[in-house]
Amino acid sequence: MAVLAAVPAVVAVAVDAAAGREHLMPVISIRDLVKTYHVGEVTVRALRGADIDVEAGEFVAVTGPSGSGKSTLMHILGCLDRPTSGTYILDGKDVSRMSKDDLALIRNRKIGFVFQGFNLLSRTTALDNVELPMLYNGAEKLKAAERHKRAMEALTAVGLGERFHHFPNQLSGGQQQRVAIARALVTRPTILLADEPTGNLDTRTSIEVMDIFQRLNVERGITVLLITHEMDIAEYGTRLVRFRDGKIQLDQKIAHRRDAAKELAALPPPEPDVPVPSDDVPAEHLGGVV
Ligand code: ADP
Repeated sequence: MAVLAAVPAVVAVAVDAAAGREHLMPVISIRDLVKTYHVGEVTVRALRGADIDVEAGEFVAVTGPSGSGKSTLMHILGCLDRPTSGTYILDGKDVSRMSKDDLALIRNRKIGFVFQGFNLLSRTTALDNVELPMLYNGAEKLKAAERHKRAMEALTAVGLGERFHHFPNQLSGGQQQRVAIARALVTRPTILLADEPTGNLDTRTSIEVMDIFQRLNVERGITVLLITHEMDIAEYGTRLVRFRDGKIQLDQKIAHRRDAAKELAALPPPEPDVPVPSDDVPAEHLGGVV
């Protein structure tokens, strides 16, 4: 499995001068978050007042039944959407009422996304897929050679160093998801948001993907928020948040966190990978998201 290159952990630390102590600042802080959709005559209250503080370096698994508001929360946390009311402080900055352009800048700088359906461009190599966010990222103009280098580093970090020039349909589902994780990493985000990233994967491949998330979390200090409806996947996190009817029903530490690397070591050797067809998405859609 991939060995992630050592980079300094990203941890926000505040110094409490009076007490002479250091303590962690929440990287994400939401208060009384409400999101209401209006569909014709119907009003849908997707979030009905949610409060969460997430410290840098946490790995939060967000669970709950379908329709409970998980994706709505992720869209707001990922600066893809704004709340109807309530506040969202990201890295000490109130982003709840920011313009769409300002939100896009913050998103490109701080957040990486991974989705269930991989969302790779099918007629584009792994390397070019991973380079894409750097083309759309207005905040930081990089030369082609630097983009190339970063994309190769990201693919190598997720164990795909020998598949730079493969197209998605030449890769297995797990490999495609790793390309998607490399794409999320290439802008060096401090937060990774993943929406059902193992939803299309078999058991072993799911553990491999969770191994990558755990390594990114532990070795790089990346804060991870992972939506899943599978409890066994949630147990790879450090904390469990369960939604019901747009509210947080449960928020607790995970007492016995699963260790994906140990589990993989105990499994029999993998069978050969089988390429699976990938979803294709228009490039302009990726531009808004990655
Ligand atoms: P989950 O991710 O837990 O399945 P969602 O956040 O997707 O839940 O949805 C919460 C509620 O908000 C559901 O009733 C859903 O139908 C509704 N909803 C989500 N997005 C929209 C939207 N863009 N327009 C209207 N209703 C929406």
